[in-house]
Amino acid sequence: MRYRVVSIPPALAQEVRATGKSPQYGHPAHSEVATGYGPCRQCLRSFHQGEERRWLFTYNPFEKLTDYPSPGPIFIHESECRSFDAVCEFPPELRDLPLMFEAYERDRWLLLHEPVMAAEIEPTISRLLGLPSVEYLHVRNREAGCYIARVERITENDAPSAQAALCSTRPHSTEVVSEIGDPSGPQIPYALRRT
Ligand SMILES: [Zn+2]
Repeated sequence: MRYRVVSIPPALAQEVRATGKSPQYGHPAHSEVATGYGPCRQCLRSFHQGEERRWLFTYNPFEKLTDYPSPGPIFIHESECRSFDAVCEFPPELRDLPLMFEAYERDRWLLLHEPVMAAEIEPTISRLLGLPSVEYLHVRNREAGCYIARVERITENDAPSAQAALCSTRPHSTEVVSEIGDPSGPQIPYALRRT
């Protein structure tokens, strides 16, 4: 499965830094020294807690995908950073976070959501994006519920370099992936947690 992980639009991040407001909602953004790992939704790297500064603002990850929004809080680095733009690579600093994958069909219909462990990331992406009705995946923090990034298939509309990229389906693990709805799958405690 050829895929890419899409971070928030860089122009939107720049607008937050320039105006101190949420570009989509106009609410004031909050600037602070990072007290949690984040991650930054532009470069998809964790914050250096107690060192790096970050913006917190309201973001709707469904903009341009569907009319029904779901705004929520996200962080970005306060200083300009480079958008994650690798192809066929899951952001390394996201791998060990408590992740939830959500698989959306047309009109943001949620087909399923699954907690994902680090060793299962690539097989799960392949399996979920291999479902013909699924249009994209959302990656969320399964403890805080916050949106992190979107996962899409590489299509003929992508640049030739992206289309030519080779993706291994299991570069990090050969573990067997539990099937959808497998009751023996990981049991995840859910609790609100500040990230
Ligand atoms: Zn960043």
